[in-house]
Amino acid sequence: MPRAIRSAAALVAGGLAPPEALAALEQVAARYAVSLTPDLAGLIDRSDPRDPIARQFVPDPAELEAGSGELADPIGDDANSPCEGIVHRYPDRVLLKLVHVCAVYCRFCFRREMVGPGRRRTLSQAALATALAYIGARREIWEVILTGGDPLILSARRLRSVMRALAPIDHVKVVRIHTRVPVAAPAQVTRPLARALRSSGKATYVVLHANHPRELTPVARAACARLIDAGIPMLSQSVLLRGVNDDAATLSDLMRALVECRIKPYYLHHGDLAPGTAHLRTTIPQGQALMRALQGHVSGLCQPAYVLDIPGGHGKSPIGPTYLRPAPAVSGGEGFEIEDFKGRRHLYPPRAADE
Ligand code: SF4
Repeated sequence: MPRAIRSAAALVAGGLAPPEALAALEQVAARYAVSLTPDLAGLIDRSDPRDPIARQFVPDPAELEAGSGELADPIGDDANSPCEGIVHRYPDRVLLKLVHVCAVYCRFCFRREMVGPGRRRTLSQAALATALAYIGARREIWEVILTGGDPLILSARRLRSVMRALAPIDHVKVVRIHTRVPVAAPAQVTRPLARALRSSGKATYVVLHANHPRELTPVARAACARLIDAGIPMLSQSVLLRGVNDDAATLSDLMRALVECRIKPYYLHHGDLAPGTAHLRTTIPQGQALMRALQGHVSGLCQPAYVLDIPGGHGKSPIGPTYLRPAPAVSGGEGFEIEDFKGRRHLYPPRAADE
């Protein structure tokens, strides 16, 4: 990994935080991991106190404030973990968490209590063998999702060995890898790494985590192209973040930029109830209004599903907005009323007057 900024003092020295914030930022850094790669640090406008890249990676004293309802394990990984490294929440898929460190530490991370250099770095060989045996013994597991931490900080050699260990498990048909590395450290995404990711022989997808269009620099785009050109389709996930991408223009630009890179927007996550992240969360009605702003005004290719991970480990659910309601009683109450992208309502099936 390229040499990253990993401390409050380094943030101040790099002009990314004012000297008077040092003591407060040291308190934050003592609690939650800090890392900012040169690629992302180079995108930050140091003269803009509201820079959307800085807001995602430079710690904020507000992280020390506990918000209402926040949880150490907001999406309930622990409640669904039958053995170390595995989270089995849905019937046909599991998470395989190979590593607990990342190239960058996002200030809103839902696993912020679990990731960081103070945690165990990678699954031991024995724990990995147990996790693979768990997968191998359950024929209902169709998909294995490598997540973390960020699996793409591992070497091509290590990733190849995991992929080859998955290869003989016939009922696993799909491997999916969630990562920030193509935007955080694009040079790490080499052709040998791409070949290693394909070495299970199974359908392999990479899901890029990106939240602002500026993250998709020419070198990040080239890194994604290396994966796609190697035969790895890409999807994206973004987190809706106050002051980062909570306006229709930024969100549209992000989704369009992703599609221009041949990456299909997959999820827009409502911010999880991770500790110390209230200052970065929007409300659900704000998120629904933003999704309405995308719908119909931006190509269907650019539409992610707006989802909430239900606290406690109950999984993701789409959270609208909804365009379909039962027809109102004044129109006879039969069928549905559906709203178009301009906000006009229509009966379905159409009545003579509405056709
Ligand atoms: S890269 Fe993912 S796991 Fe790592 S800090 Fe960011 S959101 Fe969390």
